[in-house]
Amino acid sequence: MPFADVLGQPHALGALQRGLSAGRLHHALLFYGPDGVGKELAAFALACAIVCLRKPGEGCRECEGCRKALGRGAEGIPLHPDVVVVEKGLYSKDQLGRSTDEKTDISVDQIRRVVLERVAIPPNEAPQRIIIVRRAEEMSTGAANALLKTLEEPPAHTRFVLMTARLGELLPTIRSRTLPVRFAPLSDGLVERILVGRGIEAKVAAHAAQLAGGSVETALTLADPAAAEERTRAVEKLRRAAGAPLAELLEATSEYGNTGEDRVQLRGTLEALTVTEATELRRLVLSGAPLREVDASLHRHAAALDVSAMLERNANVPLALEGTWLALSRKI
Ligand SMILES: [Zn+2]
Repeated sequence: MPFADVLGQPHALGALQRGLSAGRLHHALLFYGPDGVGKELAAFALACAIVCLRKPGEGCRECEGCRKALGRGAEGIPLHPDVVVVEKGLYSKDQLGRSTDEKTDISVDQIRRVVLERVAIPPNEAPQRIIIVRRAEEMSTGAANALLKTLEEPPAHTRFVLMTARLGELLPTIRSRTLPVRFAPLSDGLVERILVGRGIEAKVAAHAAQLAGGSVETALTLADPAAAEERTRAVEKLRRAAGAPLAELLEATSEYGNTGEDRVQLRGTLEALTVTEATELRRLVLSGAPLREVDASLHRHAAALDVSAMLERNANVPLALEGTWLALSRKI
C-alpha cells in the first residue's frame, strides 16, 4: 500500500483515507508543512489510489496503473497520462509554447498548457485525473488567477493536490479554495530510523536527525560526510567572523547564495552553530569565564537563532546573514 510509505503523519493520512473510503474527498487539497516530511509521498500515494486498476481507492503499487503513476520518464514527468505534475521549470519552453524557459515562477503558460487544456477533456486511462502542484507558492499571480476558476468549479473527473512548505506565501484566494491538510515535522527518533533504514551509520543518523528540524530531506543533507565536514568549517568561520574586521565578516557570509540549496546548507550550519554555542556557553559559565566571553557566546547564539527565524520567513539568505552578523560584530 503506497500510503504505508508515509511515516509519522497519522492525522494527514487519516483525513485522506477517511475521505477516500467515504467517496467524499475534497477535490482540491492543500498539503502544507516543511520539506522532507512526506507531502510528496502522500500525493503520489493518492495518485495510486486514484489510478489503481487492482485496488481502486487504495492503490497496490504493482498494477500497470500504479507503476505508471510512480514511474518517471526521462524528464522526471510521471509516465501515467492522468497523473500530471506542475512545477517550476519542469517543462521545456517548446512544451509550454514559450519563447524562454521558465526560471522565476510557475508561469501562466504552464497552467494553460499543462492544466487547463487537459481538464477540458476527459482523463485518458483512469476514471479520474490528479494534478499535483509542487511548490504551489511559486505560481505567478497570473498563473494562480488562471487556476482559480478551475479550483472553484472543478471538472468532475479532476482532483488537485497543491503542495507548499511556505503557506504564508500562497495567495489567499488559492488558500480559500483548497482544503488544507497539515504535514507536521517528524520526530527526531523517526527521522533517525528513516536514515538508518537507508544505510546511514547510527551515530551520524542520530546527530543529523537532531539538527534537521523534523525533515528527512534536511537530515539526509546533513548526514552526508562531505557536507558535515564543510559545516564544521562553516560554523568555525562564522564564529570567528563575529567581532572580526568587516572584510573577514563579508568573506564568511559571501559563500551563501539565495537558492533553495543554500537555504538547506545555511539552516544546517546555523543549527550546528546553535548547538556548538549552547555547549560553549555552558562550559564558559561552569568554568567561571570572564563575562565578556560569556556575553559574546550568548550573542552568537542569539544571532544564529535570528537568522534561522529570518530564513523561515523567507528572507534573502545573504542579506539576512550579513545584516545579523554585522549587528553582532558591533555588539561584541
Ligand atoms: Zn495498483
